[in-house]
Amino acid sequence: MSTRALLTKSGLRPRKRLGQHFLEDPGIINKIITHARFDNKDVVVEIGSGLGALTIPILPHISHVVAVEKDPLLIAILKERVPLKDNEKITFISGDILKFDVKEIYDRYQQKIKVLGNLPYNISSPFLERLIVNRDYIKSAVLMFQYEFAQRLTAGPNRKDYGALSVISQYYARISPLIKIKRQAFYPKPKVDSMVLEIDLERPYPFQAENEESFHRIVKAAFSCRRKTILNSLERGMVSVPREMIAKALEECLINPKRRAENLTIDEYIRLSSALTPDKTSLLTHNKVNVI
Ligand code: SAH
Repeated sequence: MSTRALLTKSGLRPRKRLGQHFLEDPGIINKIITHARFDNKDVVVEIGSGLGALTIPILPHISHVVAVEKDPLLIAILKERVPLKDNEKITFISGDILKFDVKEIYDRYQQKIKVLGNLPYNISSPFLERLIVNRDYIKSAVLMFQYEFAQRLTAGPNRKDYGALSVISQYYARISPLIKIKRQAFYPKPKVDSMVLEIDLERPYPFQAENEESFHRIVKAAFSCRRKTILNSLERGMVSVPREMIAKALEECLINPKRRAENLTIDEYIRLSSALTPDKTSLLTHNKVNVI
């Protein structure tokens, strides 16, 4: 049955506020599933299962899926659509993914989770932040984002989309573009195209910052005025650090102070954060991430 017919039969309309754009194109659905390279031992958490466009076809490829969906009316429809033989393979959770505890699933199944989702666009940033914070419990995520947001996530230095979001995300995960998806693949049709990305949290950037809080602070300060030179933008963005100290750190890292935030590599941000970490003893206490 088509998405439209399913909704009409239940007297429902897509809810804009919840970003309800349902995938309809079977070719695209297959492509996403193939690219996600599921394994029959995988435990998957799906974000926004909707009417099951992805949930139902992944069932033969995985061990278990936890379908988290904010709209209880859609859960009721999906429950009826799951083939009887697969009932054991799926857990339904009616709730907000931003309040969901993935560690609980990790503990229950004693293995790292794979995340899948055609994410509502308005929660892209906060959800990404939660992925990173919970990275110890997650293998990887295959997620659909608004095309422009995906461009920012994957951009490298010297590109106009390269920003704090790119540097910090690519520090924690290897991010690969999988499939571009035209808006026509959805009902109702959104105003923008999408992109599916793989976020591999088991392959972070090969070098670690000595102090991740300091790394975040510096990256954000650098990009807070991207038109200015790196020296000026760090001076403006890090009010508590004197200009001479920033200049000295840049020199130590062999970074020309006239360059701009968008020209610096992740590696350079990592080195700069070490050179600018004022109190290395804070290393022992830090564990807080405020990513995006
Ligand atoms: N996966 C389905 C539906 C995608 S639309 C498909 O591809 O067809 C996005 C879905 O996310 C909707 O069903 C919407 O109700 C749900 N959703 C929106 N915000 C959510 C949140 N905070 N937590 C969980 N689900 C959410």
